[in-house]
Amino acid sequence: MPSLARLQRIVQDVNTAASLDEMLRMISSQVKDVMAVDVCSIYLMDSDREELVLMHTLGLNATSVGRIRLPLGDGLVGFVGEQQQLLNVEDAPRHPKFHFFSEAKEENIHAFLGVPIIHFRKLVGVLVVQQRAIRRFDDEDEAFLVTIAAHLSGALNDAIGSGKISELLKTSKKTNNFVNGIVGSTGVGIGWVVAAGSRLSFKDVEDLCSLDPVAELALFDQAVVGVRAQLVQGQQLMAGTPGDVQAIFDAYRMILDSDDLQCAIRDRIKAGAIAPAALKIVIEEHAAIFEAMEDLYFRARGEDIRDIGLRLLRLLLEPDAVEVSYDRPTILVGSVVGVSDIAQVPHGKLVGIVCKQGSALSHTAILASALGIPAVMGVGELPVRKLVGKSAIIDGYQGRVHFQPSSALRAEFIRLARKDSEFDRSLEKLRDLPAATLDGFRVNMFVNTGLLSDITPGLERGAEGVGLYRTEIPFMVHESFPTEEEQYRVYRKVLSQFHPRPVTMRTLDIGGDKPLPYFPVQEDNPYLGWRGIRFTLDHPEIFLGQIRAMLRANEGLNNLKIMLPMISSVDEVDSFFELLRKAMKALRSEGLEIDKPPVGIMVEVPATMFLLDYMGWRLDFISIGTNDLTQYLLAVDRNNQSVASLFSRLHPSVVRALHYITEQAYKNGLDVSLCGELAADPAAVLLLLGMGVKSFSMNAHSLPRIKHVIRSVSRLQTEGLVANALRMQSETEIRLMLNKALENAGLEEHLVRRGKISNKAASAK
Ligand code: PEP
Ligand code: MG
Repeated sequence: MPSLARLQRIVQDVNTAASLDEMLRMISSQVKDVMAVDVCSIYLMDSDREELVLMHTLGLNATSVGRIRLPLGDGLVGFVGEQQQLLNVEDAPRHPKFHFFSEAKEENIHAFLGVPIIHFRKLVGVLVVQQRAIRRFDDEDEAFLVTIAAHLSGALNDAIGSGKISELLKTSKKTNNFVNGIVGSTGVGIGWVVAAGSRLSFKDVEDLCSLDPVAELALFDQAVVGVRAQLVQGQQLMAGTPGDVQAIFDAYRMILDSDDLQCAIRDRIKAGAIAPAALKIVIEEHAAIFEAMEDLYFRARGEDIRDIGLRLLRLLLEPDAVEVSYDRPTILVGSVVGVSDIAQVPHGKLVGIVCKQGSALSHTAILASALGIPAVMGVGELPVRKLVGKSAIIDGYQGRVHFQPSSALRAEFIRLARKDSEFDRSLEKLRDLPAATLDGFRVNMFVNTGLLSDITPGLERGAEGVGLYRTEIPFMVHESFPTEEEQYRVYRKVLSQFHPRPVTMRTLDIGGDKPLPYFPVQEDNPYLGWRGIRFTLDHPEIFLGQIRAMLRANEGLNNLKIMLPMISSVDEVDSFFELLRKAMKALRSEGLEIDKPPVGIMVEVPATMFLLDYMGWRLDFISIGTNDLTQYLLAVDRNNQSVASLFSRLHPSVVRALHYITEQAYKNGLDVSLCGELAADPAAVLLLLGMGVKSFSMNAHSLPRIKHVIRSVSRLQTEGLVANALRMQSETEIRLMLNKALENAGLEEHLVRRGKISNKAASAK
């Protein structure tokens, strides 16, 4: 019986394949070997012709690859595909569906076991094992083949991508070398792969004993000094970048100089291990503690520890290694791409970052966004050594990396990137023009920020203020709760830079996928747990510090608005006001001139929709958080890839909810703003205008495009679209109508979402 470990190994190995061809070879040889069968073949679905095509075989005549084609329902393989069910046949030639192919040379083969390969309801292919003997495969064989097909369906589906099977057959070694990951930072980069950091890995370290612990300790100390110097140099190279980027270097230095880590390594060296072996054990132990944690942020801290560990290892094992040259546009690829790796690439040469591990919240992703470099995180296993020096395209909109792209694909990406930036340039003239519809409905264009680095891009693109300042980001790049003074300095900077424009600062919204490294909370359902206002009201000492810092930062400027996240009851609002009064009173008694800022809430928990009648006299505004509102309304985790297709931004229920919220808000005298991702979706903006949303807050990059949409349509027309959308029963129907409206307004060519733009490029194989 093939063991679970073996199964995991096959899945892991297959994920390292550099091409579809290599993947098919790996699957068939390993399955054939593990199951001890005579034949293992893989058929893939040619959707254009509704046929299953033999793409790889071990055991049948290799020349039949690409030639054996079975329409769904034909032959045993076609039958498995049509029924989408396993078929286990003792003596295949006697089965009524059997179809004999002379070129396959399967005359003496009897036993047949075929399972469909299905990815998210879509038939990707059929995996078949056969044996000469007449026998029935047993339950364990069936279970193994079904499991392996289910595990590999995603990888195979990705490897096929949008390539047509007929073309894959012609060029299977060259095409479809792409991997999918998580978007770390958007944009497109075209360049050459450079391995990040050392190519050494802890796997290369042997557990040897040393004869001279004193000398080993000296080597270790030297390595620590070396890495510290690298970090200082990196920080200097990054001089001029925002404070939060600099803070990442400080965090790395804290890890390097942590007593826990250093003492554990020294103890092992003193006990007789060579320095690299001691380092390996301790780094792996420490990183594993973080990586085993469920939440993304803690897992990301494991990356930082490994990065520091690999840097030390490199200095221990290859102290004289020659530095890599970065003369061409560089895409850094590695298990983890550390801040210090990024700092080593000369200014202007870094065009992309690809991390095998990591999440959208890792320091690398934060830094990449701050620097405007596209990044794809968490792509899984990759044969980095084989990829070094090869060309690649990083599609930070889709979270996809193409290795050795065909010239057609490359040309298409270059063309699109150029077109994209030409279009952006053509919109620069809108910067100082008002965001008003053709019939004069004036709205505000605000920017979402959280990094100090976002300030300039927002202002450059004509942001009229900040609609959402996510205060948790400065909290997350810290190693402990920032003091009131530290917060004051950051908030003051943001408020002054935007002054006199308003800045809506959201109080701490940690929890969910944004835990704090220094305040671990274990929860089964973090999104339904101790998040946002629930946490801060339970910790008035922390909350008061933040409120005081905001009020102090606002002194004399008066452009602060405070916004509360995750509100689900009126009591929470009242409790906040008690704290606000307390903070104002204390500050006034300290001699400060404190004005009460406008206060609003995020409407993102569906329950709040029905409480707006009680909010009007308490609050000044609401801001709709469509990211969470959609997640909670549809019961779809916003970060779960498996249900990503259900995260329907314009689901009819979401549209009805938005309509209801805006109606209720205006009835109760509340201003309505929208700060979820939906504000950057041109089609959705048409509906939001029709509903009367007055402020749109989005990432800086989307501001000019959305302003262009707003200036190209009339409010009256968008009201008609809302009326129609409220009668529709699916997002597809709603989008079709909205896309048509965009097209009629002359916006279609440029305003399809960027994801779609890069989709088009991806299909240019
Ligand atoms: C939202 O939920 O729509 C929102 C803007 O907040 P966040 O994405 O920070 O949860
Ligand atoms: Mg939210």
